[in-house]
Amino acid sequence: MLKPILIHPDPRLKKTSDAVADLSDELRTLASDMLETMYDAPGIGLAAPQIGVLTRLIVMDCVKEGDPEPMIMFNPEILASSEDTNVYEEGCLSIPEQFAEVTRPAEVRVGWIDETGTPREKDFDGLWATCVQHEIDHLNGKLFIDYLGPIKRQTITRKSAKLKRERARA
Ligand code: ZN
Repeated sequence: MLKPILIHPDPRLKKTSDAVADLSDELRTLASDMLETMYDAPGIGLAAPQIGVLTRLIVMDCVKEGDPEPMIMFNPEILASSEDTNVYEEGCLSIPEQFAEVTRPAEVRVGWIDETGTPREKDFDGLWATCVQHEIDHLNGKLFIDYLGPIKRQTITRKSAKLKRERARA
């Protein structure tokens, strides 16, 4: 089922999400709804707070061509980050039509619980590394614009607020 995506500014996007204690069918359904919502948007990542659920759950698929590789991560955590950095032009489904370059570690090791309840660990690089860091930031109430200078951040926030008002009227 498609879920409405919250648009910045929204206080729920600034909150720290709660860890998942027990996997349930409800949470698995939420994860599959999030994947459906992400693909529909379309986007390459979505975090639960973006649909107003303050739970440590993210979904991703950074494959641009070829077979999809949907990933579901409960309680994802960065275990290690490279010294090397990468710059990507980032966007966010909660900040439509706005993009900016963000510098992040080029490679990260991430630990998480998968949808079967199994602990997993994997190294990510390239777009996957940027995406997983961006999505985990959402669980800590952080947006990609928080990496920008105050003027750029305010400009993007103003545009996003305007778009949000226009959509609310539509
Ligand atoms: Zn985002």
